[in-house]
Amino acid sequence: MTTIRLYNTRTRTKEDFVPIDPANVRMYVCGPTVYDRAHIGNARPVIVFDVLFRLLRHVYGPDHVTYVRNFTDVDDKINAEAQRRKEAGDPRPLEELIRERTDETIRWYHEDMAALGTLAPSQEPRATEYIGQMIAMTQDLIDKGHAYAKEGHVLFRVRSYKDYGALSGRSVDDMIAGARVEVAPFKEDPMDFVLWKPSTDDLPGWESPWGRGRPGWHIECSAMSHELLGPSFDIHGGGIDLQFPHHENEIAQSMCAHPDAGFAKVWMHNEMLQVEGKKMSKSLGNFFTVRDLLEGNWSGGWKVPGEVIRFVYLQTHYSKPMDWTEEKAKQAMETLRRWYRFTKDISIGELPFGFMTSLADDLNTAGALSFLHAAYSGGKHHELRAGLEFLGVNLTCVAEWADPEGLLVSLSETDRDRVSELVFLRHQAKQSRDFARADKIRDLLVAAGVKLKDQKDSVSEWELSPDFDPAKLEALK
Ligand code: AMP
Ligand code: ZN
Repeated sequence: MTTIRLYNTRTRTKEDFVPIDPANVRMYVCGPTVYDRAHIGNARPVIVFDVLFRLLRHVYGPDHVTYVRNFTDVDDKINAEAQRRKEAGDPRPLEELIRERTDETIRWYHEDMAALGTLAPSQEPRATEYIGQMIAMTQDLIDKGHAYAKEGHVLFRVRSYKDYGALSGRSVDDMIAGARVEVAPFKEDPMDFVLWKPSTDDLPGWESPWGRGRPGWHIECSAMSHELLGPSFDIHGGGIDLQFPHHENEIAQSMCAHPDAGFAKVWMHNEMLQVEGKKMSKSLGNFFTVRDLLEGNWSGGWKVPGEVIRFVYLQTHYSKPMDWTEEKAKQAMETLRRWYRFTKDISIGELPFGFMTSLADDLNTAGALSFLHAAYSGGKHHELRAGLEFLGVNLTCVAEWADPEGLLVSLSETDRDRVSELVFLRHQAKQSRDFARADKIRDLLVAAGVKLKDQKDSVSEWELSPDFDPAKLEALK
């Protein structure tokens, strides 16, 4: 059996992955707050943990892996969006507007993530369906002396958990110095965080022993993971931005509620995504949703197929910052187009040499791709196809845009320029009677799949055949 090795943020080492129960490998990943379309940064953990899900299913069997990713559907931003609709004249009650907003955002999320080739997790709990479990866990933490109720709030007593900060390697005092902790009259200590807070009458709320209110964000994940995966499970994932305070708080809650269970064994964090070297921001004009890329509403101005987006993401190791650039997207599109032509109508073979070793080595997707490039240059069609399937690059979808019919339209400008330039250089060589050079250029163009129609005394006309391969034009350099 393949040994998977994963970098565990908690222990700061790469470890052999040994499941608690190989018959039911369990993974929890923090999902989105559903107030708007997912941006391309949000898509990163989805793709990263989708690859891990596929790898686990391959090694332990598809029926032996449980992957839970939640929806946070109670949040100020969701309420604010519903409030906006109400102020714009919608007569329906706020509760209904909130439900409509979260339902439509979840539907978009499913559509957009499916376009990126990700599998549906085994379960996708909505926070609002687990309020009872959140109240029960909060009460349990009060009973155990780790939380206290004051003025309709319930707060977690951070200093009651001695290992607080171990995940991010910080002491409580360092965290107070560095973080924007809210000082409030109902807090014993500024570090204490909210498990439950009161709701005003016009906002969503649930009856509880502490009055009508709603859960804090961190208790949601502790309660849902416990309900669906049990007090201890194998892998907990999310973006590095969630490490502190969200994941520290989840650990504090779950470890204090179930001190003997150990909670999540392996913690994995993906690094952030940037756009053209800059942090994504609406004011810089480089903030894009997944839908924007799919529909061409971004700075590149062209529609980026979901498989191409996925392919670009796979090129960077999840633990490294990733840069989304138009250039990468163009190159990924050309590579996939070439690979599609090479593998279509071909059956799936063995995985390429080195592929699985790379992927099992802390999800080295970039390494795995290098073995696909090797399979392509080595003429190993069936293996390339197997690797693409494994990584979730759907060739049926690639066919829709990579088909030769669409070749001229979608070929990148730089490739067309390069062909024009070579055709012109050949013309010049002929004019200066350097026939050896002219013939060399002609052979190159023909080998790359360019059809030449020679004109007497002027530059040849040309067109591309369906198997045009721009990589072959490089040979003249
Ligand atoms: P949120 O809805 O903001 O809680 O984010 C959902 C997920 O997207 C979390 O796992 C975040 O860590 C992740 N995320 C948000 N922004 C980025 C980014 N720029 N790059 C990578 N992941 C991100
Ligand atoms: Zn979480």
